[in-house]
Amino acid sequence: MKIAVFSTKSYDQEYFENYNSEKKYDFTFFETSLTSSTANLTLGFDVICAFVNDKIDQDTIEILAKNGVKLIAMRCAGFNNVDIQSAKTHGIKVVRVPAYSPEAVAEHSVALILTLNRKTHKAYNRVREGNFSLKNLIGFNLHGKTVGVVGTGQIGAAFCRIMKGFGCNLFAYDLTESQELVEMGVQYLPIDEVFMQSDIISLHCPLTPGTKHIVNSSSLAQMKDGVMIINTSRGALINTADAIDGLAQKKIGYMGIDVYEQEEKLFFEDLSESIIQDDYILRLNSFPNVLITSHQAYFTKEAMDQITLITLDNIQAFENKQQLINEVV
Ligand code: NAD
Repeated sequence: MKIAVFSTKSYDQEYFENYNSEKKYDFTFFETSLTSSTANLTLGFDVICAFVNDKIDQDTIEILAKNGVKLIAMRCAGFNNVDIQSAKTHGIKVVRVPAYSPEAVAEHSVALILTLNRKTHKAYNRVREGNFSLKNLIGFNLHGKTVGVVGTGQIGAAFCRIMKGFGCNLFAYDLTESQELVEMGVQYLPIDEVFMQSDIISLHCPLTPGTKHIVNSSSLAQMKDGVMIINTSRGALINTADAIDGLAQKKIGYMGIDVYEQEEKLFFEDLSESIIQDDYILRLNSFPNVLITSHQAYFTKEAMDQITLITLDNIQAFENKQQLINEVV
């Protein structure tokens, strides 16, 4: 099997090469992302392996089909960037890694909460510069606070378990309720109630037409003044312009995001010597109560092991014409 890996970083290549030590598969690693402009690189490949910011829309898929690609192996859980219907029309199967380490993402969400709240990032810099003042470093106890969780699948459930340990009250909204979480004390409520009652709101649902911009000016109006919003799911769950207004008006007290609506042009790259053209990210960065990480919530050794192994298993199952247990249908 000839496999073209797109959006490759050195660590992706390292993990694939480690797990492919017997050279079972013929990998070619492309640094470029996969879009309709780069899809011509796929000529002669059976499989393409792609990631969160590759743009696998109808135009891209038409080129993949023409070039003979038969499988799109996403090395991530989300597949909002793939036109599944178009892949189906062209007889291209799509597989993904539905759950590799929900704890990795849940723990990063908690890292954002703790950093924003206790301001350890600011304390670190201050102390290193000989400034031992506590001015403006005051936080709040998580114990007893109400946390609203939108989406209680694998990651949302792991997040609930951690926050329960902090002694938080947990409210949740999902299309389906988890009995395990209800037994743990999580209370499912309509989304408006979750927005109204929570001190911290953490987003863990997928990006779909129904969830796009669920955080917007009207949902923000329902929330408590000074609410903390955490998003490690997908950037477009939040309407960025509305969030900027909410921050400027002090409606949002803290915002921690690992994903961003327009992250394709920024995240995973070192742009420290570039002139950043995205005014929204520059404005977000100007708020002292905003913390942005560049889609690193998944990035643990354990998760990388699982992503690589499951992607290889998905490809092997396809090669052996076995059932594709991780197929997106
Ligand atoms: P999952 O499929 O296990 O859970 C998603 C949950 O969202 C399900 O319970 C589903 O019923 C619920 N849901 C669907 N539509 C909803 C809606 N309209 N409102 C409320 N809930 C809804 O997925 P998961 O593994 O928990 O991952 C969640 C999301 O996290 C993924 O879709 C992906 O976008 C994101 N993610 C981010 C990273 C990262 O590194 N930042 C890594 C992995 C996944």
